[in-house]
Amino acid sequence: MCKKAHAITRYAFYKMEQEEHPFETRKCTKCFQEKTVTEFSHRKIVCKSCRASDAGRRLRTDMSFYMRKLCSAAMQRAKNKNLPYNLNPDKLIIPKYCPVLNIPIIPFMSKKSASPCSPSIDRIDPTKGYTMDNIKIISHRANTLKNNATHNELRKVLAYIEHPEWF
Ligand SMILES: [Zn+2]
Repeated sequence: MCKKAHAITRYAFYKMEQEEHPFETRKCTKCFQEKTVTEFSHRKIVCKSCRASDAGRRLRTDMSFYMRKLCSAAMQRAKNKNLPYNLNPDKLIIPKYCPVLNIPIIPFMSKKSASPCSPSIDRIDPTKGYTMDNIKIISHRANTLKNNATHNELRKVLAYIEHPEWF
């Protein structure tokens, strides 16, 4: 049996067990509250709500945790696009100001949306992968403006903004 199938079976077993004993309780090692097993993820000794608030707090305070999260999201994008990935979260430094727009970069992560001042991993050459020599950390705002525009396209858009009468 492969690892994945094994994990699925184990998870199914865990679900079944949970359904059979939904009122069985376990004590959370963090908040010390006695909660039912449904309040815990598989094999975890810290309850779901403690784990969620912990992750949220770490995202707001722990820079290396935040960097790892940022990189794992990039790794997922690299995987989806079939691009090379070799980012090392320990070697990446978030600049205080966006190198492009000079606005402050504030590491902040909400579950749904990034703010314009959030740091964002930009691929210098959008046709290449997420590698240490092809990325820069810039503001989310600058990255959105750039999106996947080419040099030439940006030049044309800029010309249009500056001289609409030419068009
Ligand atoms: Zn708890």
